[in-house]
Amino acid sequence: MKPKIQKVAVVGTGTLGAQIAIQASFYGCEVSAYDPDDTSFDRAIQRIKVRIENSGRKPALSVEQLAEGARKVKLCKKLEEAVRDAHLVIEAVPEDLGMKRDMFQKLDALAPREAVLATNSSSIPISRIESATTRPEKCMNMHFYSLDLGRNMVDIMGGTSTSAETMDAGKEWVLSIGCVPLTVKKETLGFCFNRVWRAIKRETLHMWADGYVDFRDIDRGWMIWTGMSQGPFGFMDGVGLDVVYGIETVYYNESGDLSDRPPDALKAMVDRNELGVKAGKGFYTYPDPEYRSPDFLKGR
Ligand code: NAD
Repeated sequence: MKPKIQKVAVVGTGTLGAQIAIQASFYGCEVSAYDPDDTSFDRAIQRIKVRIENSGRKPALSVEQLAEGARKVKLCKKLEEAVRDAHLVIEAVPEDLGMKRDMFQKLDALAPREAVLATNSSSIPISRIESATTRPEKCMNMHFYSLDLGRNMVDIMGGTSTSAETMDAGKEWVLSIGCVPLTVKKETLGFCFNRVWRAIKRETLHMWADGYVDFRDIDRGWMIWTGMSQGPFGFMDGVGLDVVYGIETVYYNESGDLSDRPPDALKAMVDRNELGVKAGKGFYTYPDPEYRSPDFLKGR
């Protein structure tokens, strides 16, 4: 049986929106997309290709499959044209609550009454957006990870009144496009996997900043234990320490719990412009961080 969701509209075709549109289109959905910047889709594809080529990970779609999916995405000049017949609209505009609420209000007016409205926000629970619409029972978080790095998983989370039917349709659709739904049963900041990763970040940052363990030994332990090619500190360098600091601050502001407060030593690194890979220096120095050396795992 075909999933209920066949026609998908993606609003915002930057880094994540473009990936979502292409994944859905490659798996046979009829996809339309809208972005006020008509260069954004092509620019995002170029960035995605570079990431695929440099990451050494198996992407959800190969570069050839990406091109095939991209060819079938219908790029629309107007929002109303993109969402007119949609069964599902996924919003992937910048991470700003006001902008997202404004967009959901427009989507509510323009998309079919029965369409599901989902946000790809990294941090904003749908309960803070749903009241901009007249259909909170059809609103949900659908948080994609980087498909280009092979992370084909999607956090699914409802708001105050999301119906079971909407959640089921969302899950079924995620499966139908080759991704794995991670269902959050009660609304929580950070969804499912972001929260797992966040717990690791909080603990390891404090172990380092409070002087208990050298960050290299934490990464060594992690790499030996998991078999991965980098540890939490190498990974945070890749994300950008300014971004890590910003995210940790959001969690702290939400909970007010001092154990959630990002360490001052991390803030000091950000102030010194030691931002990780993009700055050439973070916990490690780049382009040849010491954790890539064969001796690193020998403890030398
Ligand atoms: P991005 O800056 O790459 O893309 C945002 C796009 O939205 C741009 O192309 C911009 O032109 C477009 N846009 C701006 N105003 C718009 C409007 N009114 N209507 C339609 N499009 C508009 O950002 P991104 O990294 O793709 O992030 C988008 C969303 O996805 C954010 O909520 C972010 O938190 C979330 N997200 C990002 C990542 C990531 O790794 N980048 C991962 C998961 C979720």
